[in-house]
Order: sequence, then structure tokens, then C-alpha cells
Amino acid sequence: MKDIAEIRADFPILNRKVYDKPLVYFDNGATTQKPQCVLDAVDEVYKSYNGNIHRGVHFLSDMSSESYEKSREKIRAFINADKREEIVFTSGTTGSINGIAFSFGERYIKPGDEIILSCLEHHANIVPWQMMCERKGAVLCVIPINDNGEIILEEYYKLLSSRTRLVSVTEASNALGTVLPVKEIIDAAHSVNVPVLIDGAQGIQHGIVDVKTMDCDFYVFSGHKIYGPNGIGVLYGKEKWLSELPPFQGGGDMVDKVTFEKTTYNELPFKFEAGTMNYPAAIGLASALDYVLNIGREDIAMREKELLSYATDRLSAIKGLKIYGTSESKISTISFHIKDIHQYDTGMILDKMGIAVRTGNHCAQPVMDRFGIDGTVRASLCFYNTKEEIDTLADGIEKVKSMFA
Ligand code: PLP
Repeated sequence: MKDIAEIRADFPILNRKVYDKPLVYFDNGATTQKPQCVLDAVDEVYKSYNGNIHRGVHFLSDMSSESYEKSREKIRAFINADKREEIVFTSGTTGSINGIAFSFGERYIKPGDEIILSCLEHHANIVPWQMMCERKGAVLCVIPINDNGEIILEEYYKLLSSRTRLVSVTEASNALGTVLPVKEIIDAAHSVNVPVLIDGAQGIQHGIVDVKTMDCDFYVFSGHKIYGPNGIGVLYGKEKWLSELPPFQGGGDMVDKVTFEKTTYNELPFKFEAGTMNYPAAIGLASALDYVLNIGREDIAMREKELLSYATDRLSAIKGLKIYGTSESKISTISFHIKDIHQYDTGMILDKMGIAVRTGNHCAQPVMDRFGIDGTVRASLCFYNTKEEIDTLADGIEKVKSMFA
């Protein structure tokens, strides 16, 4: 693996100061910072070959289209999907889940049908299903979690029934860091012919995702959480599902023939890409994936495991600090609360020390309800973070405590 100093030099923002202190960026779960190659790739589109994709016959349009389709191929290879037709660009994880929830609901859902989620879901993997259930008279069923923040598999098996139409779960909890046993979840659902959507927003950047081995029916993620630009996301779907599902948006490019009487749709994946897509961001995302591959996904996972272990040891040694999410199987995210100090106060004081952490319910209110709290402080680490930064955080927390003593 590249030397850490070299890695950090790839991310211009990591060099900046905040309130005259070196930035310690521990909010990678919310969004990751971008390496120079990603900034350059997006810049290059606008500077030298910007033209709307799939529309013109002119040079710039051709060049943009070619680059956009090359990005699709890179994403296919990155998650090991079978075909490029199975890779749909969207605006992000939220856009992908809303799209599938709408289309799946229109095509397959009847009153009384059930959708299974887990208690660990981000609101983006709850609300779109709830909206669909309200429209279609279907019901949400929720897999409970234990005190470590792990889903209780036996309860999941009990929820699976002849009424279940789809299971949609996160690969890893953004609020607690728990990694879910997605293979077991998928295998059990498939044994009763139920498809599974995996929300990879917190999974894709921490390890090797192989949708073929996982055998999920849908896999979704956001570009900005894997060092790519904002405004781009991916919806992977097995071809058999994407062929059957109706489009979730209508407009230019997703059509074959349009008359006022009837419209026929474009082939996959374009059927799901209505209007002008964010092709500069898609091109930037491909560059981010190249960057990740270059660093090495196994090395990234190993380094993050080491950082998680170091941070867990350092933070658990702080008196009055309680960690939420104590599973053995976690991404490098630590959610915590300091006794008698509100999470916003902790977050705001840490911010003044140049330390960026997330505070609040992390768009996962059901998780907070499960633990009877209204929020936590969350430090989400990634491979460009260092043990020294973790020390700075631990010292910062001690200072917060002393201010409230
Ligand atoms: N799912 C999970 C697990 C997340 O952590 C997030 C964002 O934090 C989302 C979905 C939504 O992602 P986006 O806002 O990029 O659409």
C-alpha cells in the first residue's frame, strides 16, 4: 500500500486548516473527500469535451458519451456484475431506492403484501418503502436488533412468509457501523423466491463487493461516499428484474418511440435513465473507483480495521464514554455518547478544535429509538485517517469533558 503521507497528499482538502487547526476529518460516513484525480477528471470534462451524452452526432457529444459508457463498464467490473445493461446511473442511493420502490410497487405489490427491512436502516431505505406501502396497501416488517446493534437472524427467518415480496437491507449501518450478514439474508430470502435489495451506501467503500457472489437482486450506492463526486449513484439490478420493471421516470433518452397515444421504452439500461444524466459525475466516479483499485481494496479494508481497533481502544478507555454498536463485525465507524453531555455540545466543541464528527440521529431514528436515545456523536474513519488523528479526537473528548466538569 502507498505510504500514508503520499495517500493524504492525493486529497487536497486534507491539507487545510479549520479555525487555524489542522483538519481532522471523521465524517466519512456522511461524505468522503475527493482525490485530485477525481477533481481532474470532472474538470477535464468541462474544460475539454463537454457535450450532452447520447444526443448529438458532434465530436464533443460523442466523446462525452464514450467516456460515460466507459464509466458504466468500470462500475460493472468493480462490483463484478454480469452485464453493463445491469448498471443504471442515478442521483445516489436515495434516488436508486426510490426508483426501485416505485417500480417494484407498481409492478408486483398488492394489498397485504409484505416488505422486510431491518431496524438498522437509514431513512433512505425506510421512507420510499413506506410511501409505496401506503400507495399499495402493503405492510412493512422490521427485523429487530440486539443490544450490540446486530440484527437477530432468527427473527428475520420468522418474518419471511408467503406474503413477503421483497427484502431490503443495508450492507452496514451508518449509525452504528454494524456489518449485516447479507449472504445469509439473501440465501434465506431466495429459498422462498423473494428478491433482495442491498443498500451499499456504507459497504462499497470498505471492502470488495461482488454482486455475483453475494447474489443480491439489486445493489445500490452513492458516488460521493466512495471518493467520487456528488450527484451520482448506481443502481445495479439483475437483468431479469430490470427487464420486467417499468421505468420510474419518463423523459428524454429513456424512450424508443413516442406518440401521444403510446410510448415504447428504450433498451436497458437507458430505460431507467430519463433526461440529462450527470455524466461529468459518472466519469468522476469511474476515476474514484480506479483510485480505490490502485490503492487496493484489501489493503484499504485492512488499514481501516486497524484504525477501528485503535480508535475503539482509545475511546473505550475514556471514562463516561459509551459506544453504541459493539458488534464484532463493523465498518470503521464509532458511535458514542459522553455521560451528561449532549451530542451537539460535544460536536460543536470538537469542531472548534478542527475535528469534524457527525452528531444527531444519523438519519436512522429507529436505531436511536431502539436504544432510547435521541442521538450520538459519530466518528466515521477511512483509510486516509491516521492514529495521530484518533489521538487528537481522544484528547479533544477529554477537553470537552473537562469543560463540562
Ligand atoms: N443508506 C445509507 C446506509 C446511508 O448511510 C446513506 C447516507 O448516509 C444513504 C442510504 C443515503 O445516501 P445518499 O444521501 O447519498 O442518497
